[in-house]
Formats: sequence, structure tokens, C-alpha cells
Amino acid sequence: MTVLFNFDVTGTDGKARTGVIRTPRGNIRTPAFMPVGTAGTVKAMLPESVTATGADILLGNTYHLMLRPGAERVARLGGLHRFMNWEKPILTDSGGYQVMSLTELRKLTEEGVRFKSHIDGSEHLISPERSMEIQRLLGSDIVMAFDECTPYPADEATARSSMELSMRWAARSREAFGERPGHALFGIQQGSVFRDQREESAEALKAIGFDGYAVGGLAVGEGQELMFEVLDYAPGLLPADRPRYLMGVGKPDDIVGAVARGIDMMDCVLPTRSGRTGQAFTRRGVVNIKNARHAEDPRPLDAACTCPACRSYSRAYLHHVFRAGEIISSMLLTWHNLHYYQDLMAQMREAIAAGRFEAWQRGFHAERAEGDIPPI
Ligand SMILES: [Zn+2]
Repeated sequence: MTVLFNFDVTGTDGKARTGVIRTPRGNIRTPAFMPVGTAGTVKAMLPESVTATGADILLGNTYHLMLRPGAERVARLGGLHRFMNWEKPILTDSGGYQVMSLTELRKLTEEGVRFKSHIDGSEHLISPERSMEIQRLLGSDIVMAFDECTPYPADEATARSSMELSMRWAARSREAFGERPGHALFGIQQGSVFRDQREESAEALKAIGFDGYAVGGLAVGEGQELMFEVLDYAPGLLPADRPRYLMGVGKPDDIVGAVARGIDMMDCVLPTRSGRTGQAFTRRGVVNIKNARHAEDPRPLDAACTCPACRSYSRAYLHHVFRAGEIISSMLLTWHNLHYYQDLMAQMREAIAAGRFEAWQRGFHAERAEGDIPPI
């Protein structure tokens, strides 16, 4: 029998859950971290290398792909999976967040957002209907409803009108998406840091009915404490039998805290972007490979890591190639960072399944608190 799209929670520990999302393109083990493949590539990585880090799914950006090379062109070339040589599931965002953060001269109306491309100044409209069309042309497995990511800070009245607009757009997204067996549509909860608005938004989304639900409008500058405060209640307002996705998060301790609060999926540019700026995530915190202390250090970045950067290269080499501006620096550090993130997710899945997630979290924080290994 062909798998369409479903989600099973296979274990819980406190609010944390582990499970599996089944799609025609393969299973996604949750909690899942999705590497970001902005423009049809996870920067500095071959698709098979992304697979080797343990990723089950990656994220593509509607805004970038609609402008270059264009959704219709990708469709003519067989869809995004074939175009970028990635066979596993792809989630695409709706374009809403980036159109608001990257473009100037934009105009938001009930219809959608008119804007000028940041690449060549050409004029475009993105609306719920056009966002659904673009994501269909790309061949996305998990499609996100078109929404407005409420900026932070927002006063109650501004947050409310933004949330209500997003809910009207959510209904239009659902209508435009139609019936597409094997493809999923996720709704996005808004409401900023206001509990009553988060509740209303969740009710509106549930009434429309989605295959999964995202917590949107967080990780936009409110800080970890306030984000966790919202996550203490926001995921619980969404249906327990559907995947819950926290968009754009985050640092390793953000991810652990979000999973502890019932989040199943996350994405962030941090591991890939940091890999290009000389920052490595390790069990013992962040290592800045450009620091002079690594110049003659023959030890690996992390002796316990099994990624190629740690198995075959020294800190001294990674320091050298970063300082010399060599492309391999981005390749090795990105690989390491994605491996670290996927390993983190695998450890959490195992700990949740075994009912020892709280003890695991204590170990995670204790190891980070030790800091990097002392210099030689
Ligand atoms: Zn490594």
C-alpha cells in the first residue's frame, strides 16, 4: 500500500515526544532537525553528504526559488527534488517571512504582499494562492500556509490584527492547496507573546484543519526566556496527533528546550551559516576555529565526533584553511555542524524513547558548562 502522509507518536517523556512522520518519499524521525537548503542547495554540502549526517528532510525557501531560478522553471525541470538531486522529503516555507525581511518597497494588503525582488528589482505578488502554486510547482512534500510572521516586539493590537490576517490567509491557503494525496499542508500559529491570541489562533487553525501545525512568530528577537515562556503553553494548544514544528530554531540549547516542551520539528540556518564563519558546535559548546590557540593543535575538533572533519583533520588544519579562505573550510565545518545537530536529535529521540530525557538534559547542560578542552 502506498504511504500517503501520517504521523505516529511512538514514545513520550514528560511533554517531549518521539515518533515518525511517514511520507511517500520516506520516513522522518522526530524530533527532527531540517537543514536549510535556501536556493536549491545546502550550502557547501553535496546532497549525499547531507544524507550522511542523518538528515531525513530538508527545507527549501519559496521566496528565493520563486525569484531564481523561478518555480515554473524548476517544475519544467522535473521539480525541486530532481533539480537539486535530493530524493528525500522537502518542506518549503511559504515565502511570507523572507518577503517581509529581505525586500524593500513591499506593500501588504488583504490580497497578499507586492514587492520588488532583492536580486533585480522586478515586481512580484505573493499571496496565499500564489504561495500554494509555487510550492506545488516545486514539488514540496510539506507545504506551509502563507502567513505574516508578526514582528517582535508588537503591541497587543498590532499582534492581533497580524494574527487575524494570517488566519484568513490560512483558510485561503487550505482552499488553494486542495486535495493532494501524499502531500501535507501545515498551518502556522501566530499571536506573538500573548496567550489569548495563541489560543485563538490555534482554534482557528484547528477549525480549518491541517496535516501539521507550526508555532510561528518566535525566534524573532524575543530571547530564549520569553520564547520558552510561550513554548510552555503554545504547543499544547495544537492537536497532539499531528506534528508540531517550531520555525527557525535554533541554537542547540534552544532546540533541547523546545523538544522538552513538545516540539517535533525544527529548522535553522545556524549550523550551515556558522560553518562558513569558522564556528563549530560541539558537546562542550561553541569553538571558534579562527582563534590563534588552534594554530598548532593536532587534536580533532571533538574527539568523540565521527564526522569527516573530526575523523581525519586536526584543529590546526581547520584553523589554517579557515584563515586561508579555502573552500574546504566551509565544507568541513558545515559537515561537522550538521553532524552535531543530527547527532543531538538522535540522542534526544533515544533518551525520550527510553524515558530518561530529563537525565539526558542534565548531562547535555553539564557537558556544555565545562567549556572547550584546555589549550595544549
Ligand atoms: Zn565532527
